[in-house]
Amino acid sequence: MTTVDDRVRPELGPGGLFIAGRWRERAERRDVIDPSTGDVVTTVAEATADDVNDAVAAARAAFDDGPWARTPGRERARVLHRVADLIRSRADELVATESVDVGKPVTLCRAVDVETIAEQYEYYSALAQSLDGATRQIPIPSHAYTAREPLGVVGAITPFNFPLILSSSKIAPALATGNAIVHKPAEDTPLSALLMAEILTEAGVPAGVINVVTGSGAVAGDALLRHPGVDKIAFTGSTKVGRYAAQVAGESLKPITLELGGNAAHIIFEDADLDKAIGATIKAFVFNSGQFCMAGPRLLVAEPLYDTVLGILAQAVPGVPVGDPFDESTVVGPMAGERHLAKAQEYIALARAEGARVVAGGERLDSPGFYLQPTVLAGLPADSRVIQEEIFGPVLTVQSFRDEEEAIALANSTPYGLAAGLQTENVARAHGVAARLHAGIVWVNDWAMLDPAIPFGGVKQSGHGREYGPEALDAYTRTKSVVISLA
Ligand code: NAD
Repeated sequence: MTTVDDRVRPELGPGGLFIAGRWRERAERRDVIDPSTGDVVTTVAEATADDVNDAVAAARAAFDDGPWARTPGRERARVLHRVADLIRSRADELVATESVDVGKPVTLCRAVDVETIAEQYEYYSALAQSLDGATRQIPIPSHAYTAREPLGVVGAITPFNFPLILSSSKIAPALATGNAIVHKPAEDTPLSALLMAEILTEAGVPAGVINVVTGSGAVAGDALLRHPGVDKIAFTGSTKVGRYAAQVAGESLKPITLELGGNAAHIIFEDADLDKAIGATIKAFVFNSGQFCMAGPRLLVAEPLYDTVLGILAQAVPGVPVGDPFDESTVVGPMAGERHLAKAQEYIALARAEGARVVAGGERLDSPGFYLQPTVLAGLPADSRVIQEEIFGPVLTVQSFRDEEEAIALANSTPYGLAAGLQTENVARAHGVAARLHAGIVWVNDWAMLDPAIPFGGVKQSGHGREYGPEALDAYTRTKSVVISLA
């Protein structure tokens, strides 16, 4: 079991760059801060553009000359299955590392983050065994078929909030399909990516097929984006950086998948089961301290229920346990960094200036670390920046609506379109409203029902391309058609 002592272990995994199957040290280092205390717990190497060059060269060589791309899918599947087994056997270490790095409560990190990545590797292990093409009948004497080919070198760039899940959602399908990878994790939460390099290598992923370069977006990330030896970019992060990444990829016509920001609406209709709806509402905005692209920070409530829902939230939200992520009873840990806390506080201050009613929370905890009380705000105009922009903290705004049309209009009123949810006991309404919401995924009567088999991704400013599910295989392969004349 993970204990508080694990947090202060001097060996928080390796801290070098992982290139061509070897660790490379760098004198220039970046501090890694425990958000529950604000203390520096370790440092990691800061990659230069030359390091990124070397990592891409290693991946290129592994892809072009190494065995991985030519290894039968069934054998790659065995390796991915071993990865899942190793994740489970090293779960405590992964949980402790991820919790120290991001501030995630250990109970949730164990049940969600670590278990999810084990399932991702198992899922893509299964799919690696059936990467078939098709035969096609055409009106000339021929044998015509399609084959799926890996793309080559994948540059994976990931954000700070779900380091393990969002890197595995790229690396597992990329490996399943025979690609080589250079992974650039977020600068402030890099530790688990290094542990995963160890695990992947131990499971049998050949040298050069997985490379990890820790460092800044401006240097390491940019070098990876621009590198001519990279065949595809898989980017998850903010809409602002994603837009820039799309422009850079566009210059060389590099394929890119973009998993970007979100600002989901959560609609409670008058016919909802209110207990379930409130449970889902709280989960949707406090999970991972609201640092969740698929969080539900905009609650839309049918007018007749509005006062009742605010009353229940005012009672229930202050009771959500906020505290040390290593305490097994904690539900909400600190925010992942000081800048993330400061940004959420700015939005709360703006809401107050605009006359919002603070229904719950609103304050930073009076303790070391970057803790923010789960906060509920009501009475803001629909065009307030607090409602329209992505806060990315444990902050919920509540609006009322008169009818279904107004609920849908309010839900679709922001530039984002990643997730959405609704609470209703009416099955026809569930299907009808789900079809009209601008979102890549819609949940009915719960929140964040995610699984490696369910594709997710955005519409509008939330990006394009899908991760998870068999759909993710399309992002890491291309189809080749072969037509053999039989004339
Ligand atoms: P971010 O955009 O600041 O950083 C994401 C990654 O991009 C980091 O690794 C960063 O170093 C890198 N980067 C920054 N500048 C770069 C540049 N010039 N060139 C190349 N790489 C660069 O995002 P963040 O703050 O780490 O994460 C939060 C954001 O990510 C939120 O907007 C959230 O909604 C989004 N997100 C989306 C999903 C999804 O699946 N759609 C999932 C998680 C997070």
